[in-house]
Amino acid sequence: MSFFAERDNELNVEDVPLSRIAEQFGTPCFVYSRAALTSTYRAYEEQFGAHPHLICYAAKANSNLAILDILARLGSGFDIVSGGELRRVLAAGGNPRKVVFSGVGKSEAELREAVAADILCFNVESESEMQRLARIAHDAGRVAPVSVRVNPDVDARTHPYISTGLRRNKFGVGVEDALRLYQYAQATPSLRVTGIDCHIGSQLTDLAPMEDAAGKVVALVDQLADTGIDIEHIDFGGGLGIRYTDETPPPQTELVKMLLDCVGPRQLAIMIEPGRSLIGNAGVLLTRVEYLKHGQEKNFAVIDAAMNDLMRPALYDAHHDIRPVRNTDKPGSIYDVVGPVCETGDFLGKDRTLAIDEGDLLAVMSAGAYAMSMSSNYNTRPRAAEIMVDGSSVHLVGERERVEDLYARESRLP
Ligand SMILES: *Cc1c(COP(=O)(O)O)cnc(C)c1O
Repeated sequence: MSFFAERDNELNVEDVPLSRIAEQFGTPCFVYSRAALTSTYRAYEEQFGAHPHLICYAAKANSNLAILDILARLGSGFDIVSGGELRRVLAAGGNPRKVVFSGVGKSEAELREAVAADILCFNVESESEMQRLARIAHDAGRVAPVSVRVNPDVDARTHPYISTGLRRNKFGVGVEDALRLYQYAQATPSLRVTGIDCHIGSQLTDLAPMEDAAGKVVALVDQLADTGIDIEHIDFGGGLGIRYTDETPPPQTELVKMLLDCVGPRQLAIMIEPGRSLIGNAGVLLTRVEYLKHGQEKNFAVIDAAMNDLMRPALYDAHHDIRPVRNTDKPGSIYDVVGPVCETGDFLGKDRTLAIDEGDLLAVMSAGAYAMSMSSNYNTRPRAAEIMVDGSSVHLVGERERVEDLYARESRLP
């Protein structure tokens, strides 16, 4: 079922025409579908059935409070990678007892805050972090629950910038080092071993590397059990890809089935940390064509959104489908779709056939994940507004920044 479908020649989000949103809130803006988000969450949830599990949404994919709130109400947990994300999750009504904290560089202050918040688990990524956490928990008179993030050394076969499970990547510890970290945790009164975790990369379109990693982690759990270290949960991380254009990632249900098979009869809760696969196709970036520019070699559609709003094309050479909001039968021309930012890398699409005029609206599809959360103010561009559609209701869930906001914390010399 698509929550982004055409009706009367116009692209709608659920029951709302995108032109109405542009009129009311201006462009550029991100438009999310509550039903789309709910449906991807439920697809995971239902496949787990009675097996003990927790879905921990990776907040970094899109940390708008409304999105965190919708997921929290559905019972979701959260995977955070900073103290800032912890505050967002708490501000959105998320339950700290369903929060796991990942990341290679957790600071003293971040660990202290998370210990005080009594989160579900620290996904520890190094020996030094384990020692730091032990001291902080001890000083706070607490016992911190820990999981060791293991780097299973598998090639996720995705873009190198979003591949995280190879030995040469900075994430986690090697399988050979994990035992030592667990022994340290087991022997430290301010730490309690609860889990094990891995996360091998993002936008994975093939189950095989995930299955490979899952097998290695489960084997390690068995090995740990033999040495008297009991693991209560396995967190297999996130990473499932979505369809941006012609990719064919495995369905969410296949991923969950594979994990259930891997765990088999073991008494282990399963956790996953999906980000992109929950929110990626639940949002679009709505933008307007400012100018059409016909050059000698290329035609350009200059739009009012730019790389600061959606940096994936510039950063990963990522492809996002771009659709006119209003469909016409006119023949199209081939355009590079570019923003106003002064960088040649500022494009949202290349060589796209579009039948458009100046002033028309375009929808940059699949812009729910790693779009707003990676946005910047480059060129002193205020960040876009964010709109949540829920059936026929429209909610402004992120106000457009004002230019004054952008330099409000700065000052001139005395
Ligand atoms: C980014 C990240 C995720 C989410 O990845 P997706 O590809 O968006 O599902 C999950 N876990 C960790 C540790 C991450 O860094």
